Amino acid sequence: NGIEAMKLDNTPRATSKNLEVLKEYEKAEKKNEANFVVIGHVDAGKSTMMGRLLYDLDVVDQRTIDRYRKDAEKMGKSSFALAWVLDQGTEERSRGVTIDIAMNKFATSKTKFIILDAPGHKDFVPNMIAGAAQADFAVLVIDASTGSFESGLQGQTKEHALLVRSMGVQRIIVAVNKLDTINWSQDRFDEISQQTSAFLLSANFQKKNITFIPCSGLQGDNIVRKSTEAVFTSWYTGPTLVEELDNSEPVLRALEKPLRMTIADIFRGGVQNPLSVSGRLDAGSLQTGDALLAQPSGEKCYIKSIDLDEQPVPWAVAGQHITLHLADIDPIHLKIGDVLSSPASPIKNAESFTAKILAFGFLMPMKVDVHRGRVHVPGRVKRLVGTLDKTTGDLVKGKKPRVVKPGMVARVVVDLDAQVPLESGMRVVLRDEGETVGSGVVE
Ligand code: GDP
Repeated sequence: NGIEAMKLDNTPRATSKNLEVLKEYEKAEKKNEANFVVIGHVDAGKSTMMGRLLYDLDVVDQRTIDRYRKDAEKMGKSSFALAWVLDQGTEERSRGVTIDIAMNKFATSKTKFIILDAPGHKDFVPNMIAGAAQADFAVLVIDASTGSFESGLQGQTKEHALLVRSMGVQRIIVAVNKLDTINWSQDRFDEISQQTSAFLLSANFQKKNITFIPCSGLQGDNIVRKSTEAVFTSWYTGPTLVEELDNSEPVLRALEKPLRMTIADIFRGGVQNPLSVSGRLDAGSLQTGDALLAQPSGEKCYIKSIDLDEQPVPWAVAGQHITLHLADIDPIHLKIGDVLSSPASPIKNAESFTAKILAFGFLMPMKVDVHRGRVHVPGRVKRLVGTLDKTTGDLVKGKKPRVVKPGMVARVVVDLDAQVPLESGMRVVLRDEGETVGSGVVE
């Protein structure tokens, strides 16, 4: 079907207007843009909280919520209505977990946000990795109810926090959730904050980049509106979650770097646009008429047109989530996770790379699944070059290690079973049998 449509696509190729995109961007009216990932243990209340956020910001209308409430009541799970705002699609609903990285957008007067939602289920860490690779900061949701904080710490809370940090995320907002279940106790909030803070510091987050927001996603206290619970307001006068999100410093984008865009989704078979791809521009800029190189296939194509927020635009820059309508390429050459770059400074494919890896488990010459954004490829740790000093990053002299223990950082050589577009600075995660063994950066 898509291929048939391609053949019928006789529209003349758009020619580049040769705009100076960065100058155009300077002139344009713009808001701060921020992408964040939501992490935390399963059932911590991530989906409910984000649903509440979207609802209270009027991103979702009352009718939609009413419909979800009715559906949820029929299933005997009325509290799920808010979570469904995020988990559109019936498959996710009946299973009650968020599966894909649903992209939800909202804006405050200062900032345009994209929520890269992270599912809490154990098998879904690869999705979270993809989200974290594009996140400017993370919201860690913690269930403050009795016993839950402790089991969360044993569960995914720590793994998620370590992963996002090793993916380059520096700022973390900790939403201490479900305070309604513990009568808005300041003591409990303080205790949780202290323990979490100690852990986050040990995971290499800097103190100035960690904040704690007490709240209830289900009731909507301190998410968008201030709480009206007297017990709570007697000790808390700080920012709401959305005020804290808005505190984000404008993120510096790699505007001047060579163009890089990882394909997050592919759409085929449209009448006007038989082949379209969406994703975030990781670096650089592009405009209508530009030639692109797709890797790993090495095929060239052209940009027919560009959409930003469902509107056609003449150009786009790093940090923006866009849809590109493409011409002159057979769809078999494009897959989710492929990287588009400019033929003048293309990204190269690699079958082997050296990386600086923080070990989560025991790391040794072994088979691993190598995750880079949404792609994962089987491979193996070929060689341990040596362990690195955590503060200086220097190679520790002496005997080569035969195994790297959890918590240590090492330089390793990894071989891949397939060609993967890779370059220095990219983040990779090594997993084995569904467990994360290490995570780090390509050298
Ligand atoms: P997720 O797995 O982290 O996305 O968690 P969900 O959003 O699906 O929530 C898990 C359960 O906790 C659901 O039954 C929610 O209704 C409940 N829940 C979420 N937030 C709150 C809250 O602030 N207070 C209370 N009492 N329950 C909550």
